Amino acid sequence: MMPVVFFGHGSPLNAIQDNPCTRAWREFGRMNRRPVAVLCISAHWYTRATQVTAMPLPRTIHDFSGFPPALHRFSYPAPGAPELAARIQQLLEPVVVTPDASWGLDHGSWSVLCHVFPRADIPVLQLSIDATQPASFHYELGQRLAPLRAQGVLIAGSGGLVHNLGRYARGDPPPQDWALRAEQQLLDLLQAGAHSALVDYKQLGEDVLNGIPTAEHYLPLLYVLGASAGAARILCRGIEGGSISLLSVQFDA
Ligand code: ZN
Repeated sequence: MMPVVFFGHGSPLNAIQDNPCTRAWREFGRMNRRPVAVLCISAHWYTRATQVTAMPLPRTIHDFSGFPPALHRFSYPAPGAPELAARIQQLLEPVVVTPDASWGLDHGSWSVLCHVFPRADIPVLQLSIDATQPASFHYELGQRLAPLRAQGVLIAGSGGLVHNLGRYARGDPPPQDWALRAEQQLLDLLQAGAHSALVDYKQLGEDVLNGIPTAEHYLPLLYVLGASAGAARILCRGIEGGSISLLSVQFDA
């Protein structure tokens, strides 16, 4: 059975940098069985429905501005897997999942996968996050996706456990105290397998609410939790810009 993984993707610059987290992502790709495909739930495809990419050749989307030309030119030419998209539609019934032919791979996916599978030779699909649904909905979709693990599909959430751009500062400042506390509080729950508390994250107090001012970077975690059973194992951690967590965790069970 494939593991399940959550990546704290941080800045798009991680795609072209070498640091402890990008090295841990590379190690993750080397240490586990090669998947038949990757299903990525990225914070950056936040829609008003659930969609799945169904094109044979997804484009690389540069959904950011003001970064170096090398990042704007970056290509991650992994193929799609239209037949797997159809299987995902069936698995998630009665939730309606719309096949998509226009999105592709956004930087939430490729800025990490370019390290995990640098040859871009494993098919990648993205599943969008329906912004109109409550947290429990996303956890339940994760539960319905779990059978894909036995078929060799790597389910990967890509977001950030703590992600407050309003408090982000350039110039590599130290982590802000509330961000460290929020990350540790969430990590303790992950390592305890406390899924219901993590689904009800709005009840976890002020630090966590500061870390999750909007849901899109947190919700990919709920898909990962729904598809997993055991406790989290840390791949890497760190806080960018004082307020963005890179914590990445793997679940083997
Ligand atoms: Zn992001």
